[in-house]
Formats: sequence, C-alpha cells, structure tokens
Amino acid sequence: MTYCNTCLLSDAYPFISFDSNGKCNCCRSNSKRIYLGKKALNEQIGKIKSESREYDCLIGLSGGRDSTYLALRAIKDWNLRPLAYCYSNGHMPETTMNNLKKLSKKLDINAIMFEDEVNRNRDLFRRIFNAWIKHPHLGMIQTFCIGCRSGVNKCIPTLSQDYDINYILDGANYYEGGSYKLKLFGIDDDDFSAFTGGWKKLHLQLAWKIFSEFLKNPYYMSPTVIFNGINDFSKGFGANVDKIRPFFYEKYDVAKIMDAIASELDWQQPSYFPDPWRSDCDVALIKNFICFKALGFSDYDFFLSNMIRDNAIDRNEAEEQLQKINDHFNNSTSKIKELLKSYKVDSESIQSLENLLMDKIAISNFKTRLPI
Ligand SMILES: [Zn+2]
Repeated sequence: MTYCNTCLLSDAYPFISFDSNGKCNCCRSNSKRIYLGKKALNEQIGKIKSESREYDCLIGLSGGRDSTYLALRAIKDWNLRPLAYCYSNGHMPETTMNNLKKLSKKLDINAIMFEDEVNRNRDLFRRIFNAWIKHPHLGMIQTFCIGCRSGVNKCIPTLSQDYDINYILDGANYYEGGSYKLKLFGIDDDDFSAFTGGWKKLHLQLAWKIFSEFLKNPYYMSPTVIFNGINDFSKGFGANVDKIRPFFYEKYDVAKIMDAIASELDWQQPSYFPDPWRSDCDVALIKNFICFKALGFSDYDFFLSNMIRDNAIDRNEAEEQLQKINDHFNNSTSKIKELLKSYKVDSESIQSLENLLMDKIAISNFKTRLPI
C-alpha cells in the first residue's frame, strides 16, 4: 500500500495519484485556506446585531461538538441573542441528547425542538438498510440518512419567517471538505469547488447517480423511500437565509473547542464513538464503520488530512489519532450490530452485513469497482 508522504491518504482512495516526490493529488491541488480573520467576523456579527430584532440569528443544535461550541461563542463571546432549534432526527445518541439539555440550561438559550419525525426516520433507515444490503453499493451508503436533510432544511425557512430572522450561524469548516462520497460514484469533485459555486452541479450529478442506483435495486421501491428520497434532494439546496460561518473566519482549533465545551458546558462524547467529531449521529457511525471495514478509510482520514494540509496538526500526531480511531472501528462490530437491532433491521440483513465485511472477495470487488 502506498501512502502520501504529506497527508494520511493511501492508494485505496478513489481518483488518487502520486507525483515522483510521493505527494498525492489532493495535497498538490490543495489551495491555502484563507481565514477572513477576527476583525471581519466581528464586523459581520455587528451587522447582525444592528438590525435590532427579537432574535439576531438562528442556530441549529445537534448536541455535537461544533454546534455546541458555536452556541457557546454566540452567547458568551459575541453577545448574540440566537434562537436555537434542534431537529431530532431519530439517530441521536443519549449522551448527545444530554449535551443538549445541559447546553440549554447553562446558556439559557431559547431552543425549539422538532421531534415529530423520529419514528419516521428510524423506520426509513430500517427500510433503506434492508434494501441496500441486498445489492450493496458503497456510494449508496449516504442514502442511509434520507429524511434528515429535508427535516433539518425545512426548520430554517419556517423559523426565519415566523420569527423574522435573516441570519443563521453555520458550523461548516474547511476540514470537512474533500469527502470521498461523490468519488464512490465515480464523480471526481475537488473539495474547494464545493464552496465556490460548483456544488449545485455536483449535487445534481449525485442525485442522478443515486436515482440510477435506486432503479437498479428493486428492494428500494417502496413509496415511503421514494417519496422521502425525492423530498430530501429537492430540499437539499437549503433555505434563503444568510449564513455566517465563523470557522471560515477563525481556524477550527480542535484543542480550544474541546477545552471550551468540556469545561463550560460539561460536553461529553458518547463512549462508543471513535472521536468527538461527528459523534452526534448513530447513522454517521454506521456509515463510517462500513466504509472503514470495506475500503480501509472513513471520514476521519480526510478530516485529519485536511488538518495536516492546513498545518493544524503534525503528520505523526494525526497518524497516531487515526490509528486509535481505526482500532476503535475494528472493535465496533458488536456495537454496530446492537445499533442495527435497535432500528429493528432484519436479522438476516445484519448477518449479511457481517458476512459481507468478512468476505475478502466481495471487498476486493468493491475496491476494483472504484475509479482508482
Ligand atoms: Zn496527500
């Protein structure tokens, strides 16, 4: 196996190539991240506050690391009056729910909970997983979260209209970019295009690939899955509210974030997750586990690689962290089975997943189908 000498990606990653110095194409095409700075962020915040409304902005809370930190900053550092909302998607770990409760209490933030679709989303996941495992396609793993995207997106226009709010604080950061999800469908995006206008085109390309896969697998053909799948994509472009993304102004500093939320809000990571990042969703864990077992990498490889490229972490330290994460995944099979059972996934489907991930031929077929 060949590894990039700069980041953590290996030749298992789709569309990767290495130059004569051993540097991968992702590192070569990586543009230097430009942070707009504290002054520019304060100007933005000043602009929001000058509009004198009951609430300055919306903030979506998941109980995860990033939204918790943003809520803390919004109240303590920026003196904003945000209206918080939480779309309970049915996939939140108990520890995450407790994080939310602690946050609302300690920050005394006005929060609206949307809890109507918990059972619908859990039922959707069960149906989609049972269908997926019949003809598993790794790109289609992302359909496991159907229901959540439209659920989250529909909260925003409703609340912004009802409460006359024009802005939303958004926790996106540079390190999340460059995911392999499009690549698993043979679409070679580059991570920066997602932030500079190319994302709509990529989104449509992806919708077409997913639609084609749906047609190939008759097990997906249930009205609930089709209706919610279309609904998710049609609402995927988001609402017409100005987004303020603080992590595009100030570097995403993991140690600083962890320290702040742990000491001020007693934030905790659910113990069965390999890392605090993305520890707010059981489906995210299931998806990452399958990717890691089938392909040898997960979202964490990219997150850490992006941090290395931005000089936010040293390569050796990132490698050590990734090793711990991967060791965790290697010991997670029984927990994943337990989670699948909690969704009432068929026992044959759970067994099929276990067989699939132990089947070296099936795994190598996945790899040869990838555009490497
Ligand atoms: Zn690299």
